[in-house]
Amino acid sequence: MARLKYDSQFQRMLVQAAFLLVCIWIGIEFHYFVKWGMSRGALPFVERPPGVEGFLPISALISLKYWIETGIINDVHPSGLIIFLAIVGGSLLLKKSFCSWFCPVGTLSESLWMLGQKLFGKNFTLPRWLDYPLRSLKYLLLLFFGAAVWAMDADSMAAFIYSPYNKMADVKMYYFFAEMTTAAVVTILVLMGLSVVVKNFWCRYLCPYGALLGLASFLSPLKIRRTASTCIDCELCTKACPSNIKVHAASTVRSDECTSCLQCVEVCPVKNTLEMRAPVVKRGVPTWAVAALVVLVFIGVTGAGMMAGHWRNGMTRDEYLMRFPKIDSPMYQHARGSVPEYGPQD
Ligand code: SF4
Ligand code: SF4
Repeated sequence: MARLKYDSQFQRMLVQAAFLLVCIWIGIEFHYFVKWGMSRGALPFVERPPGVEGFLPISALISLKYWIETGIINDVHPSGLIIFLAIVGGSLLLKKSFCSWFCPVGTLSESLWMLGQKLFGKNFTLPRWLDYPLRSLKYLLLLFFGAAVWAMDADSMAAFIYSPYNKMADVKMYYFFAEMTTAAVVTILVLMGLSVVVKNFWCRYLCPYGALLGLASFLSPLKIRRTASTCIDCELCTKACPSNIKVHAASTVRSDECTSCLQCVEVCPVKNTLEMRAPVVKRGVPTWAVAALVVLVFIGVTGAGMMAGHWRNGMTRDEYLMRFPKIDSPMYQHARGSVPEYGPQD
């Protein structure tokens, strides 16, 4: 019980494990939904888990712009937009907390660098001349996707959102992983291998979602803040930071790489010297309250979306049964957000 209240890393591990289990449950349920669809309804029907839309961030970004421009929350992937808002909302309040508290890729990444520490006794840090340009790669990827979405007007967004491709984008994603090409398997294995030797390789250098959250996190009022007058310069915080931030030298950690993991706060030997704190406010937020806030923001936003009726999509079983057999046809392809022309019968 004491660990649950006082050990932020124990709390974080519990939240990570719970979210990972939810993702695995979503994956299993979606697998049986796809099997039902591909059997043309011969197998028992399994409900499609709406949470699967959380893995369609580009569709969610288009949905967000469409909502802002037209006031319409589309019913093709409504939960994708709600989950996206919950994740970005968390970063606006608590830095990139999604990355270290929820994201299953972040959790896997953390396990891999811990494995690397066990195998090699340490992780390797890239020299600054290489680290800086590589960190900009994720922003270039974000720029690439962001510019494509920015260029879309309301008509082209509607054409994409209601296209056969977008309606079955979750099923297409399923097949990407279920029938991975050799190139995809090799790429994933290389990235995993790099994550064993360099902490959070994918997240630090390549993840455009993380880049977006990093930008949002600059606005976060809650940041790690250090009280210089009580700090004994032991540098334990800097050694503990998995994002290689020089915490001991900062009065406020503004870095876009800070994920609110609280590892620095946990190791600081001087009480109340390193805290998650809002500006001006003198008292820091206790670590258990940070954990509770991280979870509450996510559950609060997704719960509000559910209650407002923006969770389950509007596709019927009959529509899915009509689309499943055509999934490999050219109608279900896209090139950089541009989808083939389709009519009311498609
Ligand atoms: S500064 Fe602290 S909270 Fe931020 S990533 Fe580093 S260890 Fe985690
Ligand atoms: S761990 Fe605490 S006392 Fe040590 S350098 Fe960091 S802030 Fe200062």
